[in-house]
Formats: sequence, structure tokens, C-alpha cells
Amino acid sequence: MLTAFVKSWPRLWATDRASKHRRYSCPHLAKPLSFAAALTGDLQKSMSLADVMRTPIVAGNWKMNGSIASVDALIQGLVSSEDLECELLVCPPTVFLSQVRDRLIAKKRGSVIVLGAQDVSQHEAGAHTGEVSADMLSECGCRYTLIGHSERRQFHAESDINVAAKVERSLTAGIRPIVCVGETLEERQNGYTLSVVERQLDAVGEMISAEDWGRFDVAYEPVWAIGNGESASPEQAQEVHEALRSALQKNGDQNGTTRILYGGSVNQDNADALFEMADIDGALVGGASLVAESFLSIAASAAVRSTRSRAG
Ligand code: PEP
Repeated sequence: MLTAFVKSWPRLWATDRASKHRRYSCPHLAKPLSFAAALTGDLQKSMSLADVMRTPIVAGNWKMNGSIASVDALIQGLVSSEDLECELLVCPPTVFLSQVRDRLIAKKRGSVIVLGAQDVSQHEAGAHTGEVSADMLSECGCRYTLIGHSERRQFHAESDINVAAKVERSLTAGIRPIVCVGETLEERQNGYTLSVVERQLDAVGEMISAEDWGRFDVAYEPVWAIGNGESASPEQAQEVHEALRSALQKNGDQNGTTRILYGGSVNQDNADALFEMADIDGALVGGASLVAESFLSIAASAAVRSTRSRAG
């Protein structure tokens, strides 16, 4: 049965833009196969490890928005989603983490929509008033945390060193960091885009150990494109993602399995074009993640990317 399934995978999972909301089903199996289990036979020949490991991810950064009631309403909208071939991550404000976790578990969607934090302390525990430790986040059910979002760097004076320390701390606690990098408008206009993002990545590389490469994801978020409806063009984003991909590989991500998300005014209208790009593996979404319909539409676009790479 497995062989039959694997051989027919490209046809079974084939989809197109018009049908991106279709439930991906397989007549042979009650549940979708795990990627590892499916990596056999003909399929194995046509897919690289990176294709398999770089499952698209769409992450919602809710920032400092919401209330108990609005969080409940948003989760209600999200849990009605179909199962997509895409990882869905929500990063609510810290005070709502347990609420979101409990609602997802109650709706039996805790394994489909995963929980992340927006930030984490670089300290392990103790006299750090107002801080939340990686262990605490882990206990609350967080599998991911954003680190080094430009709003933290710009308005809360986070340095590259702070960001690297937070990455190291999260990895120790078993939380997968999504490290945000990106240039300001001035830096772009002066031609420093690639040197800025590479410097931000290098700082992380200097603090982690060799085996940690591949244990975190990266979000490229040009500061000038965040929260204003002016996304980078797919080509602008791809240029930076490609540079980040080779920097990651040069440093230690030999298999190219680190996912690189694009963030900056992603919405349901521009997501398809962004996901056409070879090195855009996901999206970090701010404003559009606060509306279930638009967040799910972006996720559906990401799932089309997944399907395309499977179909080879
Ligand atoms: C963000 O804050 O990470 C972000 C990308 O926001 P927006 O999608 O609203 O630009």
C-alpha cells in the first residue's frame, strides 16, 4: 500500500491556485503520511532532504493585540481550517499563551496549529523582573519563539549579542527559535542589505555550537516593509533569501534544511507570488494574522508551494 501511495503522490497532491483551499486527501490512508515515512522509492530519487525538511511554515505574530474574548474568536476561526501541507504557528502575547494552548487542545487542533512566543529572556531564571524564561515558555506549550524581531531591536535596544544569547537559551530549553533579521530603509538605500543580514546571522553563529545549525529558522523582515502594506517584491525578497541560504550553508547548515521565512506586509493578495520564489519557505505575518480568513489563505498559498516541490 505504501509503495502505491508513494508512486501516486504527485497526482494525489497535485493542486493549482484555483483549488488551493481544497482538502488534501489520500484514498489510501486515513491520515497523511509523515514525511520521513513517505521518503521511499521513486519519490526519494526526485526529492532532496531539504525539500522534505523545509515544510512551509506560516507564523502569525499577533504583537500586542487582543483580549481574552478576541483571542477566543480568532482561535475559533483558525480551528475550522482544513489540514494543509504547511505548518501553522501562532505567537500570541505571553499572557494569552495558556489560553490559546487550552483552546487548541480542547478543539483537538494542538498538533495542527502550534504555539510560539514573540520573545524570550536571555537569562535562565532569577532576578529579571518582567522577563519570561525559555523553560516557562516550554512549560506553557511553546514549540517556537520569535527572537530579534525588528521592533525588539529598534524599540527595546536589543543587540546582536542579546539576540544570539536568546537563541542559545531557547535551544537549550528545546524551543526552536525563529531568528528575525532585516535592514532598515536607510541601510538598503546605502547598499548594506546583505551585509546587515549576514552580520545579524553571524552573531548567532558565533554563540551556538556546530550541531545547532539546522535547529532554528530565520525570518527575513525588511524593517521598511513591516506593518505598512508595502511588501518587498518577490525578487527583492528572493535576493536576500538566496544570500541567507548560502550563508547558512557556509556556516554549518550543510543540508540546507533551515527554513527562511519572509515577513513584511504579507497578505492574501501577495502570498502566492512570494511563495513562487525558490528560497521563500514560509511567512511571518503580522497584521493579516489577526484575521483568521486572511491568515488561512496565506497558509493555503504556502501549502501550494509544498505540493509543487513534492510534484518536482
Ligand atoms: C511582523 O511584525 O513581523 C510583520 C511582518 O508585520 P506585518 O505583516 O503587519 O507587516
